[in-house]
Amino acid sequence: MRTALVAGNWKMNGSTDFINELMNDLTANINASNVDVLVCPPAVYLSQVKTLTGSTVSLGAQTVSEQANGAFTGEISLTMLQDLGCEYVILGHSERRSLYAETDALVADKFIATVASGLKPILCVGETLEEREQGKTIEVVGRQLKAVVDAAGIDKFADAVIAYEPVWAIGTGKTATPAQAQDVHAEIRAIIAEYDTAAAAATRIVYGGSVNASNAAELFANEDVDGGLVGGASLKANDFIAICHAAGA
Ligand code: PEP
Repeated sequence: MRTALVAGNWKMNGSTDFINELMNDLTANINASNVDVLVCPPAVYLSQVKTLTGSTVSLGAQTVSEQANGAFTGEISLTMLQDLGCEYVILGHSERRSLYAETDALVADKFIATVASGLKPILCVGETLEEREQGKTIEVVGRQLKAVVDAAGIDKFADAVIAYEPVWAIGTGKTATPAQAQDVHAEIRAIIAEYDTAAAAATRIVYGGSVNASNAAELFANEDVDGGLVGGASLKANDFIAICHAAGA
């Protein structure tokens, strides 16, 4: 039995006042003992959010350096994230891949470092619209996933979460249909099963891409969809609360 997970990716949004209000609303309305709920604020607000998470919301980061420490201006280490109370790190988000040139190999390095630190990676994979239209969805998602499994080893996936995020659905208002999401999630699980059937059954695979209060329930109802990675709707308290409730919180 996989515990559902709903993660809010705030991206580069928020302010001290906004976060105080949002976190107060979330913690007052989410009883997440049976669902893992986490928020991933910009790194500069991690400390503030940690003081507001209460017992029902966990803390995640949006990215991390693969390096341990040293002369890497602007970067943030896993040790720092742990120091601030983070439990999860999003890795390989499509915006990191496309805007900041993160390659499969770099994502794999970050994954390996994250697992070694004890934090839980949320590994994002997903195809562009062009790749989907060319029938390459599984090829692309499989390549992104296998690059990490082959480098890290399937035994490193015990606490890992995979986020299937079709690039064409992120921030566009175009959501994958429940059937499209289920199809790719099942394929991802089948790829993991090529390495280890127990890992395939245990690994949480969440969907991301314009999840909102109206479509969350039908997406999460699918057998292989174990929750969501939510961008825009995670900045609206009522919407994020409704999404968490749709996951069973
Ligand atoms: C995301 O950034 O991971 C995401 C899924 O964004 P949105 O929900 O806004 O599409």
